[in-house]
Order: sequence, then C-alpha cells, then structure tokens
Amino acid sequence: MDAAPLIDPFGRRVRDLRISITDRCNFRCTYCMPAEGMQWLARDELLRFEEIARVARVCVERFGFTSIRLTGGEPTVRAHLDSLVAMLAGLRTPDGAPVDLAMTTNGATLALLAPALSAAGLQRLNISLDSLVADRFARLARRDRLSEVLEGIDAAVAAGFRPIKLNTVLIRGVNDDEVVDFARFGRERGLVPRFIEFMPLDADGSWSAHQVVPGDEVVEAITAVFPAVAVDPGPDPATTWRYLDGKGSFGVISSVTKPFCGNCDRVRLTAEGQLRTCLFATDEHDLRDLLRNGASDDQLADAVAAAVGTKWAGHAIGRVNFIRPARSMSQIGG
Ligand code: SAM
Ligand code: SF4
Repeated sequence: MDAAPLIDPFGRRVRDLRISITDRCNFRCTYCMPAEGMQWLARDELLRFEEIARVARVCVERFGFTSIRLTGGEPTVRAHLDSLVAMLAGLRTPDGAPVDLAMTTNGATLALLAPALSAAGLQRLNISLDSLVADRFARLARRDRLSEVLEGIDAAVAAGFRPIKLNTVLIRGVNDDEVVDFARFGRERGLVPRFIEFMPLDADGSWSAHQVVPGDEVVEAITAVFPAVAVDPGPDPATTWRYLDGKGSFGVISSVTKPFCGNCDRVRLTAEGQLRTCLFATDEHDLRDLLRNGASDDQLADAVAAAVGTKWAGHAIGRVNFIRPARSMSQIGG
C-alpha cells in the first residue's frame, strides 16, 4: 500500500511524530517545571505502550512518517522503556524503510539504560545539559546530578549512539557565559551542542523576552573562537554550523527570534493521548478516547488527518496575539 502524504493547510508535509510517554520527571528545571506542586497524571490516564505503538504505526504505515522521537517529562522514568523502543524500531514505512528513532532525555540514568536502549533499536539521542558547572547545574535542574549526566553522556557514546546532540537552553545572566565552554566540550567528545532559545513554556509563567539569548549572539561568540560555516538547513529547526578545522559542528535553535514554522513537519502526542499540531497549540485532538473505544485504524488515521487539517502557519511569540498554551513544556512533550 502506498503512503498517502499528510499535507497541512499550508502545504507542509507532516512526517515527524514527537511522543511524550510521561509527564513525570526526576529533575525540576526552572525553565520547565515548578519546584513542587506538579499534578501528575494517574497511571490509567497514560497511554499504554501498545496504544502508543498503534498510533505510531498508523502514522508510519498510512502517512509515511519517517521519524519518531520519544520525550516527556523524562522518558527514562517510564519502566521497561526498551520494550517500547523495540516496538517502534520494528515499524516500517510502506517503502519498507525503518523510521529514524530518537529520544530526548536529561541523561541522568543513561549510565544504566544506554546499552539496553541501543540494543532495542534506539538510534539517536539528544541529551539536555544546561551547565558544566556543578552548583549552577544544581540550581537550574533543582537536582545536584551533573556527574550522573556526564556519566550518562559517556555511556551513550560507549553504547554507539551517533550523533549525540546536547540541548542547552540559554537564559540571559544564568548560563549564557558558558557558550564557548559547551562548544569546546562538544569538540573534545564528538558531541553536537545545540543552543535553544528560552520559550514561554515554563510552568512558573515567569518567562520574559529579556531572558532570551538570541541564536545570532551564540554563533558570534563561538565562531570568534572556533571559526565555522553555516550548513544548508533542512526541516531540522536547528541551524547547523560546521567548524572549519573539521572538529564537528554546533547548532542554534532560534525558536523565538527566528521561528522555523515554515518548515515544520511535526505533530505531538501527549502522554495521555492528545494530538497537538504545534508546541504552542491551544487546542488538542483526543486519540485516547478513540483507542479505548474500539476505533479502527481507518478511524484513527482519519482523526490524525483531521487534526493536521487544523495545523496553523506558526506561533506568534512576541506578537500581541500570542496566547500562552495552558500546558508547560513537560506536560506537552518538548
Ligand atoms: N526531560 C527530557 C529533557 O529534558 O531532555 C525531555 C523533555 S524536555 C521538556 C525536552 C526539551 O525541552 C529539553 O531539551 C528542554 O531543555 C527543553 N525545554 C523545556 N522547557 C523549555 C523552555 N521553556 N524553553 C525552551 N526549551 C525548553
Ligand atoms: Fe524534566 Fe526535561 Fe523539564 Fe528538565 S526539561 S524538568 S529534565 S522534563
């Protein structure tokens, strides 16, 4: 059977599924969660692995989705994660191709999990790391676990994950002085640092435009020390810069100052089975109800297509018509 491409109202082909598998986390990063008081979903509200894999299968087999990324909350806090990875690694597009299967994690438990995840078929990892300085890391993540994350990164390298990207959310006056240190860290270890602009998705609602460190500023700081050239961008939201001396690359994700919505090819599934067509969407499409009430694959595919039919052109951060979504990043799935 040929895949029917899923095209949104603005002519973009949608083929990337971001799946949040839990709203829980073992960190409390200041830009994502409050220190305490998060209300967790009850266990039976979460999609089961079989339900997640079914939605993914419909997207891959019917619409030819080519990439799937697991996220959260912190995906590694969900037990038996490798069994979900194995289910997703077994999916094939109508052309017989496997999907590009990746995960975003805070890395704290990778020292334990990396070998099993690799063996189950996970291909790529993005590991979040916001400071290389232990006490600053502890303040940002509200957990004193930098050494475990560094061990997790080493374990991921040893398990053969390539490329490994490091995600750093820069906040003005907090960690923006570490940009060149991150670049050096990446160059020494063969990792790709990516600097993400702080977005108004923090649970505390304290985001302000003054805290955003523009991607252009990051590029200027790094290329002054390690000369680099921009690589042609694909649908990837990161603009990649390759070092002229051949020692790898870094990326900037300028979601606020230079939104990449025009290339957006993704939809998101929340941990409780709501399909969202944008990080900043203010409405959601309930797939869990369909999954639990005997819907056929055709009905699920129709619901996915109908949701994509509502995908908007892009977010409006910084404009007067911007509406903050009711959920924070950990509840949507970053
Ligand atoms: N717990 C995992 C982790 O931290 O990598 C996966 C989920 S986390 C929500 C996904 C990504 O979103 C992380 O790289 C995190 O740094 C980023 N993120 C969270 N809140 C953000 C915000 N307000 N602005 C920009 N990025 C944010
Ligand atoms: Fe947890 Fe990731 Fe949010 Fe940090 S960014 S609190 S690690 S979900």
